[in-house]
Amino acid sequence: MSFKIQIEKTGHEFEAEPSEKILDAAQRAGYTLSYNCRNGSCGTCKGRVVSGKVNYGDVDPATLTEADKAEGMALFCQATALEDLVIDAEEIDAVRDIPIRIVPCRVARMEKFADDVMGLWLSLPKNQRLQFLAGQYIDILLKDGRRRSFSLANAPHNDEFLELQIRHVPGGYFTDHVFGKLKEKDLLRFRGPLGTFFLREDSDRPIIMVAGGTGFAPIKAMLEHLFYHQVSRRVHLYWGVRSKQDLYQAKLAESWAHEHEQFEFTPVLSEPRENDNWNGRTGWVHEAVLQDFPDLSGFEVYASGPPVMIDSVKQSFFERGLEKKYLYSDSFEYAAESESK
Ligand SMILES: Cc1cc2nc3c(=O)[nH]c(=O)nc-3n(C[C@H](O)[C@H](O)[C@H](O)COP(=O)(O)OP(=O)(O)OC[C@H]3O[C@@H](n4cnc5c(N)ncnc54)[C@H](O)[C@@H]3O)c2cc1C
Repeated sequence: MSFKIQIEKTGHEFEAEPSEKILDAAQRAGYTLSYNCRNGSCGTCKGRVVSGKVNYGDVDPATLTEADKAEGMALFCQATALEDLVIDAEEIDAVRDIPIRIVPCRVARMEKFADDVMGLWLSLPKNQRLQFLAGQYIDILLKDGRRRSFSLANAPHNDEFLELQIRHVPGGYFTDHVFGKLKEKDLLRFRGPLGTFFLREDSDRPIIMVAGGTGFAPIKAMLEHLFYHQVSRRVHLYWGVRSKQDLYQAKLAESWAHEHEQFEFTPVLSEPRENDNWNGRTGWVHEAVLQDFPDLSGFEVYASGPPVMIDSVKQSFFERGLEKKYLYSDSFEYAAESESK
């Protein structure tokens, strides 16, 4: 037996098996709902169940609160249908026709950008290319069904290799392997492209980008895409890291600021070291944006990086007038417990 689910705004309908997550069922039918972590943590897929009942699934209670549930909200990456449903969810057309594939790949090159950040370039089998939008991510598929998400740091026009920027999580199952044993020519397998964090090109609003640590990766892809297509929208990138050594591609960002007059770059250090001789901005990266922009109502914001940074951006930017629909974010959640055995 399966249930019929209708997306209220578009009238699109699809079938879901009783144990099938609503996001997966929609995707199987060719409809992409807004999503990011698929762990029930980031909240990007939160939407309203207009009619019918759901099983909420394994969700972070801070992301889907009891108050949310009372208002009929659910996280569609985790919720399953208990009967036919009508849902109010954001449908993302731009990724609809991009196939999600499982692809074997080879590590073509590795470069240590910093003590704890590795650049990884992956090559696909001969004559194959991955179709994706600047800012999307892939899931590296590991043994026993484990998966680890990493953003693509290259733009689609430059797709000979897929570039990843991987932060070492000490004790982490996959990133320990990357920093300890992985070598050039090794084989990996991934599923992608995934996510709905990509550049909205049908807008001419000025853009503020906020990157935390390796949250720089998808932002780099978006910027290279913008520059390549000579888009003249104003963009201000704030990149927040701990100390100077963590600004692992500062020279690249500075060179963009040199070459493109519509682009500004502000690095922000939260814990500069004494020998950094840092005269630039300090503190939390979202606070630097708030200091510079008392009114965010006319802007579009792209933010990616640690969950705590994304939460701070959400809380404070909406208070400064940013419209919810103009905040796009990629929260670098960790793989769910059940998948990180
Ligand atoms: C959509 C998306 C895109 C992402 N893109 C990137 C990217 O481009 N670059 C990047 O470096 N990371 C990115 N991440 C985060 C990355 O997926 C995790 O850091 C990675 O899965 C860690 O894998 P692991 O096997 O080494 O650690 P695990 O074995 O999964 O974790 C080991 C322990 O460390 C904790 N942990 C895991 N990850 C982190 C972390 N990042 N920080 C602090 N503690 C952690 C876990 O809770 C666990 O206790 C992204 C995440 C998502 C959801």
